Amino acid sequence: NGFVELGLARELVMAVKDLGYTQPTTVQMKTIPLALPSTVEGQKAGYIDLMVSSQTGSGKTAAFLLPVLHTLLAQQAAAETAEREEFEAATAAALAAGQPAPKRPKRKDPTSQRNFKAATPGALIVCPTRELAQQVAHDAIDLVQHCRGLRVANIVGGMPYQLQIAKLQNADLVVATPGRLLDLQRSQQIKLDQVQFLVVDEADRMLDLGFSDDLAEINQLTIDRKQTMMFSATFAPRIQQLAARVMREPQRVTI
Ligand code: AMP
Repeated sequence: NGFVELGLARELVMAVKDLGYTQPTTVQMKTIPLALPSTVEGQKAGYIDLMVSSQTGSGKTAAFLLPVLHTLLAQQAAAETAEREEFEAATAAALAAGQPAPKRPKRKDPTSQRNFKAATPGALIVCPTRELAQQVAHDAIDLVQHCRGLRVANIVGGMPYQLQIAKLQNADLVVATPGRLLDLQRSQQIKLDQVQFLVVDEADRMLDLGFSDDLAEINQLTIDRKQTMMFSATFAPRIQQLAARVMREPQRVTI
């Protein structure tokens, strides 16, 4: 299976198998190794920004979702290990001192109003239209089916706020259209300062729809992130201008 050779996590390889993908497409073969920090290419690159030319139907969605989900999974596993080791050390110390062992911390119910806190996703995918954002979120949900604890949320205009806000809590990956995303950011339902991966999908349509300034604002709000990937059907001069606004010396991937 070509997805194993790309170095992707077992949970993700299982998901692509379930979806019936047997081999990575060209855009996946070219993009995933550059975007994965655990591969030789990715280590050499060290979280570089990528500008990828891609058509709809090329498999571009999985080309950005798979490496992003892979890294979120690895980070989640590392955090769980650290938490477990800390708990075990505290238990051992208590027993050695003849004290009762500590209780495991209870998880708070994130859907309770009392426990409300702004969502702080690690990855953000921005799409020009509601339909595309829903399709990308749908693909992401398919890909995380074996990833215990990775949550995907979709933020688009024209849907009830309350429902989206409830789903947003604890989301690791958010797929959004720019306008509604900035609305929720301004009303402090979502904070973008933990975003490590920013993906701009169909950048050419973003410009056609007048989202250039919104993207620049999102870029400012996620300024400390590690990696930005921009996907576009063309690298026309106006796309390159947008790229210069949101990326640092991006590496080009052409198909
Ligand atoms: P996209 O270009 O992301 O819109 O993907 C086009 C279609 O190709 C979607 O229906 C995907 O589910 C499918 N797809 C993506 N990657 C693969 C693959 N490696 N093998 C077969 N189908 C794929």
